[in-house]
Amino acid sequence: MRILLVEDDLQIGAAISNALDDAGMAADWVKDGSAAIASVTSGSFGLVLLDIGLPKKDGFSVLKQLRQNRNAVPVIIITARDAVEDRIAGLDLGADDYLVKPFKVDELMARIRAVARRHSGSAQPLLSNGEITVNPSNKTADYQQEALDLTGKEYRLLHALISTPGRIYSREELEEKVYGWDEEVNSNAIEFLIHSLRKKTHKKAIKNVRGLGWMVPK
Ligand code: CA
Repeated sequence: MRILLVEDDLQIGAAISNALDDAGMAADWVKDGSAAIASVTSGSFGLVLLDIGLPKKDGFSVLKQLRQNRNAVPVIIITARDAVEDRIAGLDLGADDYLVKPFKVDELMARIRAVARRHSGSAQPLLSNGEITVNPSNKTADYQQEALDLTGKEYRLLHALISTPGRIYSREELEEKVYGWDEEVNSNAIEFLIHSLRKKTHKKAIKNVRGLGWMVPK
């Protein structure tokens, strides 16, 4: 899942960004409210972590504008303000959850998973087509009940494909789910990852549909 982090504090932002990366989630990081709106509007994010005290446009205004534009992306507010009125304001504006800084990374991850699950309308956290199974809550994957040893990028790619077995994903869609913006992506990067995923599973585990993209069979 691709996450947008909106945080103007460089130290806190770097810590959260690293933690997300370690957890196998692609995170893009912007540092003011206007950039947040632009990013959410143009990108496909699974979730937004939103600070309140921000330059240009504060987090409440960002959230208000997103919801007015009927953008339903899940939002978790992360802020040092712990006043009850602020929490109520955030939730009333359409935030999905609220976390007061400082918080433990583990708690942030658990909340991200919970919000993402609620948002996908499913309490069932396992994604599977019968052969490949991905467990987003602990970032593990297996093939025919055998655990797979995957890199972060391989995991993100497999997670993207297994989200909807039978659906064909284009190169652009997969690149967007696997890489952050600031990463340079080689033109054959996705092929390379698919190749190594097939080696770890089976060459028929991921199908290439010529000219369109890739899918995992239903
Ligand atoms: Ca701030």
